[in-house]
Amino acid sequence: MHAGETKNGWIDVSVSLHSGMVHWPDNPPVRIERMLDMEHGDVANVSKISMGSHSGTHMDAPLHFVRDGAGLDEMPLTATMGRARVIEIHDPESVKPGDLDPHEIRRGERILFKTQNSARGWASAAFIEDFVYVSQEAARYLALREIQTVGIDYLSVGGFHRDGVETHQALLEAGIWVIEGLDLSQVEPGEYELVCLPIKVEGSDGAPARAILRPSNDRR
Ligand SMILES: [Zn+2]
Repeated sequence: MHAGETKNGWIDVSVSLHSGMVHWPDNPPVRIERMLDMEHGDVANVSKISMGSHSGTHMDAPLHFVRDGAGLDEMPLTATMGRARVIEIHDPESVKPGDLDPHEIRRGERILFKTQNSARGWASAAFIEDFVYVSQEAARYLALREIQTVGIDYLSVGGFHRDGVETHQALLEAGIWVIEGLDLSQVEPGEYELVCLPIKVEGSDGAPARAILRPSNDRR
């Protein structure tokens, strides 16, 4: 059994949402407050959740960077359910085409990048500006290969200082579905079954998601 794996084989690769957690600098913070509280005599506990649509583990819709693009509610469910490949990237700066060449990425694949973000990024309560991102060249490489879905283990596929807009545009304009904010620290590179479902918000540019992986046994 891998670390983090449950009895049925599923590994939770989502981060827990909590008040004050790290978020993208100009996005709204995550705040979860008890509005009704049994400790205070209410008959039930009810919380108010307030946050940006790109908080924690979440997905981006084309609408995030493409005017009149599709919302996440229009995403085909198959985009994030099925076979996926976890590729480990050792480059401490970004994913580059040269990092991808040996992996022979094919059309329709779901690719999740495990970088040093998984070990480093989520351990920090402060926002990390130099997280590993997908370079715009690698984003265009993935678009050219017509992959279906891409995932990254920090808050954005694009960088903070560079390639933020370009990488998002290259992926989203190509119709690639983007999962961000994964925690792949408990996951080895390899073949998996993926289930990742963003909550259904009408016309959403992004939405929080629960993402789980299970090692895939069959060899196709
Ligand atoms: Zn994004």
